[in-house]
Amino acid sequence: YAIQTGGNTYVYYEKEITHSYLENLKLETHLRSALKKNELSLNYQPQVVAETKEIIGMEALLRWNNDELGNVGPAQFIPVAERTDLIIPIGDWVLEEAIKQNKKWMVLTNRRLVVAVNLSPVQFKKADFIEVIKQLLEKYELPAELLEVEVTEGILVKNIDSIKSKLDKIKELGVKVSIDDFGTGYSSLKYLKRLNFDKLKIDREFIKNYPERDNGNIAKAIIMLANQNGLKVLAEGVETKEQFNFLKDNGCDEIQGYYFYKPITASEFEKIILNEKN
Ligand code: C2E
Ligand code: MG
Ligand code: MG
Ligand code: MG
Repeated sequence: YAIQTGGNTYVYYEKEITHSYLENLKLETHLRSALKKNELSLNYQPQVVAETKEIIGMEALLRWNNDELGNVGPAQFIPVAERTDLIIPIGDWVLEEAIKQNKKWMVLTNRRLVVAVNLSPVQFKKADFIEVIKQLLEKYELPAELLEVEVTEGILVKNIDSIKSKLDKIKELGVKVSIDDFGTGYSSLKYLKRLNFDKLKIDREFIKNYPERDNGNIAKAIIMLANQNGLKVLAEGVETKEQFNFLKDNGCDEIQGYYFYKPITASEFEKIILNEKN
């Protein structure tokens, strides 16, 4: 639930937030005009190679700042956007912004970083999102392999054949596909082999309590599973040196987490990559 602390800042105390009907209605009303009023922006969280700590990509994370509500986190407004289908125009905007930005950085830095964009199951259900991606890649002339889409097990609800055919179409474009929050759903193992994911992202859940209350065995098992199936594996939510070393020593390819970088604005990200030796 949310508590307004003054200064238009909401503090959230639970992962799963249950808004009252009125709170949701208010969010929805403001969200409807968020795009038009330019209230949305993207942060970028760098992803590094475990062995070298070199930045090789970044996840685009949506931010919303509204005059009345202040900063509202995606965990609060994405569910509202999904329920109202606002996630379709918002998701298109995220794709365009991320693709445009990555092309800018490609030209500016002469590096080939991969930008990862979260796709909602609601977007995924729509037939035309693949066409949207294709046209945006053409419009900005971004090489397809410099875009990655992150899907969750939420897409795996029904008809596995139609899901597979959509995933195959994305891959035919040359776009990378990763499975986000891996391990928190229930269907992962069953579909992992059939659906040709490029990368598996281990959920923070399996990292955050290491080593105090978690011996890391699940994270280790997921890394092995990925390695044995030819998938890249990235750990999310890595906050400490101990966690980092554990994951690296157990064969985790990539790391994303506060230990290296928090999500940052485009201009902060730009400074970092321009300063990074490569
Ligand atoms: P996600 O895709 O799993 O993104 C990772 C989340 O973990 C981000 O939260 C990020 O800020 C946070 N994180 C990264 N490293 C650490 C760490 O070391 N410690 C901790 N405590 N947290 C860390 P964020 O930005 O609040 O986003 C939450 C979720 O909202 C995302 O989870 C994703 O499911 C959704 N989301 C964000 N942007 C979009 C978007 O453009 N479209 C859609 N459909 N969903 C989005
Ligand atoms: Mg993600
Ligand atoms: Mg995730
Ligand atoms: Mg997550």
